[in-house]
Amino acid sequence: MTMTSTTDTATQAGGAPADLELDAVVLGAGVAGLYQLHQLREQGLRVRAYDRAADVGGTWYWNRYPGSRFDSEGYIYQYLFSEKLYKDWSWSEKFPGQPEIERWLHYVADTLDLRRDIQFSTTITGAHFDEERNRWIITTDRGETVEAQFFVSCAGMLSAPMENIFDGQDSFRGPIFHTSRWPKEPVELAGKRVGVIGIGATGIQVIQTIAAEVGHLTVFARTPQYVLPMKNPKYSESDQDWYKSRFAELRDTIPHTFTGFEYDFEHAWADCTPQRRQEILEEIYQDGSLKLWLAGFGEMFFVEEISEAVSEFVRGKMRDRLKDPRLIDILVPTDYGFGTHRVPLETNYLEVYHRENVELVGVRDNPIARITPEGIELADGTVHELDVIIMATGFDAGTGALTRIDIRGRDGRSLTEDWGRDIRTTMGLMVYGYPNLLTTAVPLAPSAALCNMTTCLQQQTEWITDAIVALRAEGKSVIEPTEHGEEAWVAHHEETAAATLVPRTHSWYLGSNVPGKPRRLLSYIGGVGTYRRKCDEEAAAGYPAFQRS
Ligand code: NAP
Repeated sequence: MTMTSTTDTATQAGGAPADLELDAVVLGAGVAGLYQLHQLREQGLRVRAYDRAADVGGTWYWNRYPGSRFDSEGYIYQYLFSEKLYKDWSWSEKFPGQPEIERWLHYVADTLDLRRDIQFSTTITGAHFDEERNRWIITTDRGETVEAQFFVSCAGMLSAPMENIFDGQDSFRGPIFHTSRWPKEPVELAGKRVGVIGIGATGIQVIQTIAAEVGHLTVFARTPQYVLPMKNPKYSESDQDWYKSRFAELRDTIPHTFTGFEYDFEHAWADCTPQRRQEILEEIYQDGSLKLWLAGFGEMFFVEEISEAVSEFVRGKMRDRLKDPRLIDILVPTDYGFGTHRVPLETNYLEVYHRENVELVGVRDNPIARITPEGIELADGTVHELDVIIMATGFDAGTGALTRIDIRGRDGRSLTEDWGRDIRTTMGLMVYGYPNLLTTAVPLAPSAALCNMTTCLQQQTEWITDAIVALRAEGKSVIEPTEHGEEAWVAHHEETAAATLVPRTHSWYLGSNVPGKPRRLLSYIGGVGTYRRKCDEEAAAGYPAFQRS
């Protein structure tokens, strides 16, 4: 095992950046990037990770907005490749908050001694494949040029924020924060008139957290959102011992379930009486986790009547808490099925709307027209005066992190243009026409939308490492998808998606939140375990969907 540090050659005396020759560049130092860097370095590659952020963490560096926390249980979000790394960290509660998650990623980076091979505060702006030398020429906003055989993207599924989307944003007199660009310094909200745009998983966490602190909160809600209450017990030492004692079991099961969580679909609708179905729904609901979505009745993703029955169960729970018909009209979904896009967990979120200082503004029929110096103006001319605007407006998911970089493959083809026409990948691991560009958390794999992220990112980075090691062991230097291999995967992806109700719902799952983005279900919906098996089979068969030379 060789450990190679690039730090010595990365900067010259005085800190001036120098050009570098590497085996691999890893884009990103979040959950995927850290582990990818570790693996490739362990294999003796000269590798360096680059991140725009000033430190490690990725998603958990950027999303430091009030209330940011896991919706996955902490103990299943951890890396499973090292029992010691797993057991030497202890979570203080079941669904930890961002500060603790960020500390955990610092712990990982420190324990694996990763920082010496990460360059922070650096944005990769371009990556061009030199076909003559089979090298990626990578440029950064610091004016550096780095050459590498492999370019591995660990840029994250949800890292390109939808931030400049309203006319007049620059004219606002107060600060505007996108949730994923929340400052490290404390933001004073006490007593202020605060507006939150968006009620996705992020908006919900912000709203429930700041409502009691701000002077007045105005929530701008467009599409209603199904929500499930979170139960978040604090962990005693014996709770921590208990989950740690399950390490081997978790390691053996989580990677093979449908969604990369510890639980799987347990019940068949057809086998139950109507009364039993209600009992099961109630039981799972009381778990206070994502179980009702990811481990209830799998048929709800395929059969409209079952989807409707489960949706009605959740609506009933929401109506009971909201009581007020106006709130119910704005906040309870009626025209799409529960679970056909991301279901958030919440804590007393719906009750927030009963507070005197909270105003709910429905913008479905009266949309936001522009931002003015005073606040937010709606289409009918109403102006809501504000001191601070918080945009919980989401992301250009899956593709945005890479299409915002000038990436050029064979014949100078542009990934921004290719994905601007049609979003295609081979198993979410490579893209036809882009040799030696290996990808995690891009479309057509389960990562993000239908997966516990760490489960999927571990699997993808391990597959990438194995593919690189196998290639080098055979004395080859280039791997890329065949046209046929990519076509076959896209067809399989489409067929799998079309069998479900998910593509019927508009959300970032389909790219429909980004104007002009080609529509395609971004996440592979055949299941995490199945996807893993297909990836393993591909490798075991000698990579038939790929050309290696
Ligand atoms: P999101 O789900 O895309 O929600 C964006 C929100 O902004 C939606 O309510 C959207 O309304 C609204 N919006 C966007 N443009 C608007 C406009 N012009 N006018 C009015 N409303 C507008 O984004 P997100 O909440 O940031 O969540 C993204 C994903 O991040 C989640 O689905 C989840 O996977 C992940 N996440 C995870 C956690 C966790 O694990 N704890 C926490 C937060 C987020 P429409 O729906 O009408 O477009």
